[in-house]
Amino acid sequence: MTAQEPAAPGLDSRMVKMQTPEILRKVGIGLALVALACQSEVLPVVAQPSDTRVAGPADPKVIIFVIDGPRYTEFFGDSLHQHIPHIWNELRPAGTLCSNFRNLTLTETMSGHTSILTGVWQAIANDGSERAPEPTLFEYYRKATGAPPQDAVIISSKGKLAACSHGLDPDYGTAYAAQVDVGLPTDYDVYDHLIQRLDQDTPHLVMASFSQVDLKGHSGVWADYLRQIEIVDSLAVLTWNHLQNDPDYANQTYMFMTADHGRHDDAHGGFQHHGDDCDGCRHLIFLALGPGIRAGVDTSTLYTQRDVCKTVGSVLGIATPRAEGSRMDELFEPVSTGVLH
Ligand SMILES: [Zn+2]
Ligand SMILES: [Zn+2]
Repeated sequence: MTAQEPAAPGLDSRMVKMQTPEILRKVGIGLALVALACQSEVLPVVAQPSDTRVAGPADPKVIIFVIDGPRYTEFFGDSLHQHIPHIWNELRPAGTLCSNFRNLTLTETMSGHTSILTGVWQAIANDGSERAPEPTLFEYYRKATGAPPQDAVIISSKGKLAACSHGLDPDYGTAYAAQVDVGLPTDYDVYDHLIQRLDQDTPHLVMASFSQVDLKGHSGVWADYLRQIEIVDSLAVLTWNHLQNDPDYANQTYMFMTADHGRHDDAHGGFQHHGDDCDGCRHLIFLALGPGIRAGVDTSTLYTQRDVCKTVGSVLGIATPRAEGSRMDELFEPVSTGVLH
């Protein structure tokens, strides 16, 4: 029995200074995040421990469930959780909640989504005219497995997210891009398309991005913004329940729920807009669900969007060599090799 209690990664050493987007553009990201020690047994053994797979299901699948632009304070940071009753009561007890998860680059839609997908801070144009220099998870996945386009999918209302389908690295690119299903009218349509694709194509890697919380926020009507969080709260639970009732997905699917950015806290302009380095814009939701994910755990360890790529790569069993974040080992139950039983 070699099970180890996963030690919390050194929070102090991972604390980083907030920097303004302008500085980020000029000097790049000098965030000296310390690589996490590899605490889980890995299968199979390859050269880079942080790129290897955590022990898990035989045919793992991942849904990255992005909610575009909710503030932490109306979500997990609300002590009553009045706008997320289903996520709070039905999903949170089954997973690990990261209460100190952050965007440390531009708090805009394109930067947030592409930083999640590449594991590298992306300070790119927010109009969809620019792609990330590094490969996305879709490209790593399809190149490593030979999977067809419909096996890696982006679904969203925002058409500009088509630019997240692949990056500019010539070793990857369009040949390994995600299939794109964007420009959908509402979050309900995103959910419908997600379910249709799960049922028809059984994709292994999906990023479903629900845009309307952000759009309602920008409209400036507080009640509409809150109502949209409540709608997505329902859609998240419907998604998870659908996965658990589908034999292709049950007990072999991870769902990582997060956001691209938050919104200004009340001292920096309030909920209507976002885009600077205030705590409201940087502090994001993050909930992990799936086989081997610790249940009912709330960790305050600092994690960032950069850590998602290596974490997803690990559960899918694929290398993500240009990703700079660290695998979030704390999410996972300790694993025994069983050798000494
Ligand atoms: Zn956004
Ligand atoms: Zn702000």
